[in-house]
Amino acid sequence: MKITFIGLGNMGAPMAANLARAGYDLTVCDLDPAKATELQSLGATFVDSPEKAVQHTDIVMTSLPGPKQIEAMAGPAMLEAMKPGSVWIELSTNNLEVERSVRAKAEKQGVEMLDAPVSGGTEGAAKGTLTIMVGGDLPVFKRCQPLLEVIGGNVMHLGDHGAGYVAKIAQVVLCYLHSVALSEALMLGVKGGVDAATMLAIIQNSTGTSYVADRYGPPLLDGTYDPGFALGLAHKDMRLTLELAQSISAQLPLCTQVEDLYGRAVKAFGPDQNHLMALRLLEEANGQ
Ligand code: NAD
Repeated sequence: MKITFIGLGNMGAPMAANLARAGYDLTVCDLDPAKATELQSLGATFVDSPEKAVQHTDIVMTSLPGPKQIEAMAGPAMLEAMKPGSVWIELSTNNLEVERSVRAKAEKQGVEMLDAPVSGGTEGAAKGTLTIMVGGDLPVFKRCQPLLEVIGGNVMHLGDHGAGYVAKIAQVVLCYLHSVALSEALMLGVKGGVDAATMLAIIQNSTGTSYVADRYGPPLLDGTYDPGFALGLAHKDMRLTLELAQSISAQLPLCTQVEDLYGRAVKAFGPDQNHLMALRLLEEANGQ
């Protein structure tokens, strides 16, 4: 089975590396050839255009920034070069509108699609322990399941096309809500006179603790943000949340405020900063 992996960013590169280590015949592609260097040392072949990279492939996997880049692949840039009967597993965080339009084009081409967005961050991608939320036809999922289990520790088929993206958006939003909640709780304690590190330790050992408190609390306090997840992508996730909510008439007042905060942070600091920079705006407002 030949596999092509497109998008070798913070998530894509470690996922592709796990496929290469598992012995798959792997072709990789990214706008930046330097991102393929390590993968080439693991036996993958680098091809500089998605169109050429997918031509003789059975399975194409994409890990791209978002809807705009996914949509751009659904034409001569990639999809039209895929062979009928092949499968496009889309691993990015996307919206339902683009999912539908891209899938309609894939059907005409005789290409099967699975939406398979992931959760677990760069650490989960490196360890192969990602949660993968899959939407699409069950027989296609079953065919691809062994492959997905190389990059994921918790691979779930959730239903029809789009179900993966819905689940992904509904869970990722908690990461940002928890981040803002953690920041506000820390600031409240610190402004009230409790030492910051002590306050974090108290939160981590209290009923309100979370993965976010453990994972992001320490870098939040010492300001050593790694580049693993960009502010621009976090804001994209918040926009996707509000778009999804609007399309199904869900009222999410807290999410509306958090989207606004992340949008202002992108304007203030640029999209490439770590997502925790959004919390800097809250700190500044509190003189911290
Ligand atoms: P990233 O920006 O680090 O990587 C995206 C990669 O796609 C880049 O290397 C870019 O060069 C490449 N790319 C863009 N357009 C391309 C094209 N036309 N042809 C070839 N390559 C192209 O992003 P990331 O952090 O790896 O995230 C990827 C996806 O996974 C996003 O949809 C994100 O929302 C989602 N996600 C990220 C995380 C995380 O912790 N970083 C966690 C879960 C889900």
